[in-house]
Amino acid sequence: MTSEHFFELEEKYGAHNYHPLPVVLAKGNGVFLWDVEGKRYYDFLSAYSAVNQGHCHPKIINALKEQAETLTLTSRAFFNNRLGEYEKYITEYFGYDKVLPMNSGAEADETALKLCRKWAYLKKGIKENEAKIIVCEGNFHGRTITVISMSTDPDSYGGFGPFTPGFIKIPYNDLTALQKALEEPNVAGFLVEPIQGEAGVFVPDEGYISKAYNLCKAKNVLFIADEVQTGIARTGKLLCCDHENVRPDIVILGKALSGGTMPISAVLADDEIMLCIKPGEHGSTFGGNPLAAKVAIASLEVVKEEKLAENAERLGELFRSELMKIDSDMIELVRGKGLLNAIVIKPKNGKEAWDVCLKMRDNGLLAKPTHQHIIRFAPPLVITEEQIHEAIDIIKKSLAEIA
Ligand code: PLP
Repeated sequence: MTSEHFFELEEKYGAHNYHPLPVVLAKGNGVFLWDVEGKRYYDFLSAYSAVNQGHCHPKIINALKEQAETLTLTSRAFFNNRLGEYEKYITEYFGYDKVLPMNSGAEADETALKLCRKWAYLKKGIKENEAKIIVCEGNFHGRTITVISMSTDPDSYGGFGPFTPGFIKIPYNDLTALQKALEEPNVAGFLVEPIQGEAGVFVPDEGYISKAYNLCKAKNVLFIADEVQTGIARTGKLLCCDHENVRPDIVILGKALSGGTMPISAVLADDEIMLCIKPGEHGSTFGGNPLAAKVAIASLEVVKEEKLAENAERLGELFRSELMKIDSDMIELVRGKGLLNAIVIKPKNGKEAWDVCLKMRDNGLLAKPTHQHIIRFAPPLVITEEQIHEAIDIIKKSLAEIA
């Protein structure tokens, strides 16, 4: 079967809610992917940072296989013998009292919003239905109605109203705006990505996160970090907030919690917040299933055992410095942290970021533009120094060929 066959199938039978780069992948291992014709590529997207541990990591796959043959789902109507063990493991790992397990990132974001509102009514004394949550322009927290109600991207929210009320939108990386918004009555929380991934890897000024945290604390407002994309070693620390020694009141995780094997997300908080939600008030059929519990422990173990945060920090520095050395007038800007990086492309002779991605594909490296002129580079964190150099050569060659 050729790639054409698979393009046609998806075109004919699938909803047209994505615009994939034309390549049909059939196999993955570590930092590599192979297409149906057997051609090998460097994966420089890592499924939007879900595959931090590398494709089909043997330890994670073994945990998955073993548990899949034993018990996969009980629902939370009953206890299972894997969930408690996972809850203990992940809360100790990140240093929180409690975890609330969910599946997708968007669901975990929704969970954090509900938790924050409930806390506002039960603990902060805000009048029911009046809590407000501050969010940032350019955010990406997923695709549900409430989540897109926070969005400022017309592609995300256009045509999907009416929207959920209760959000105050302020510019990202703007402490003055935050300070002003915090003066409004009934503010319960501030939800922020420590680096805006989908917006194009926007890294805020140094000190933004810690100062924002302090401003929130002074107003008894919950600091909620969406670490779905930045967390789990991607930026060179376990959590991106660790760069500024900030311990958020609520942490939202997803993606790499399963090493890319299944949707697993989680919300972490201390008792004062987490116990505001009582039995029957929130949940999900699949959240906290034994298969996910087993897989998540293995995925987090790999991050520690293979020192992925350290690798991301070290090789991220190298990658950015090598990118900056590339002599191409199509590279307008290089930015990022750890192994979450991006280049801003200056179109040339009608060639844009999309064309650069097609050329890199031809040369054996997969990446995808975000917002037309930005290309994100986020390889699995198991990448080696030698592979970074090889990838840089492919990027350099592709830019040269296109110019
Ligand atoms: N939050 C952030 C910061 C994300 O980057 C994403 C996805 O890219 C999400 C939430 C949504 O996660 P999911 O696609 O699993 O719902």
